[in-house]
Amino acid sequence: MEFTKVTEKVYYLINDGETDRPVLGYIKGDKYSLMVDAGNSKNHVEKFNSCIEKLNLRLPDYVAITHWHWDHTYGMHAVTGKTIACEITNEQLNVMSKWQWTDEAMKNRLLTGEDIEFADTNIRKEYEGLQGIKVVPADIVFKNDLEIDLGGLTVILKNVISPHSKDSVIVYVPEEKVVFIGDAYSMNYYNNCEYDPFKLECFINVLKDLEFDICLAGHSSPINKTEIIEYLNLQHEKIQAKNK
Ligand SMILES: [Zn+2]
Repeated sequence: MEFTKVTEKVYYLINDGETDRPVLGYIKGDKYSLMVDAGNSKNHVEKFNSCIEKLNLRLPDYVAITHWHWDHTYGMHAVTGKTIACEITNEQLNVMSKWQWTDEAMKNRLLTGEDIEFADTNIRKEYEGLQGIKVVPADIVFKNDLEIDLGGLTVILKNVISPHSKDSVIVYVPEEKVVFIGDAYSMNYYNNCEYDPFKLECFINVLKDLEFDICLAGHSSPINKTEIIEYLNLQHEKIQAKNK
């Protein structure tokens, strides 16, 4: 199943490596529902919404963004519900909302380092016409963290230190013991694939302190707390060995 229920009130749409579509989450409160990440395009959002509708669930009232990267944000203009991003994410959304989407402008951004080859390649695969790309800032902006009551269910958004990007936000659902971490666990592709051991250690500690059973990462299948921490400890050891 592409759209999967992980707990009583949490679902997700599986990631798709074909055009680098990340996992999209769905958290169902008694009053409101919240989507995690906005996907990489209108088509991606439509696929998500059709899964929701098939199960007779309500379309998202809110959409929380885990970080600014295109695959998590370029569907923002097409979602139902208010989009929520942390301040640092929104700054970059504002910058990208002014980008031109011509072949020349895209090539130029690769030269200046504003964008990266991997994103460029996948954007061209996801979009038949580059003019279909629309980048918009968020409706609601928060600093550090934000708690939302969805009715019988709390969602906590928290900007954490992460090796992936400085705007990394985790979406934590304490009652369901689920956490969405976006790409916060991985390296920084926008800075020569730097994998900062200190930031990784900080992120591992964030996870250690959090009570959860299921972790949903941006581009892979759900794993449990022990598995994600073991995996990240191993990554940390590898970086340390390389830096010696
Ligand atoms: Zn990312």
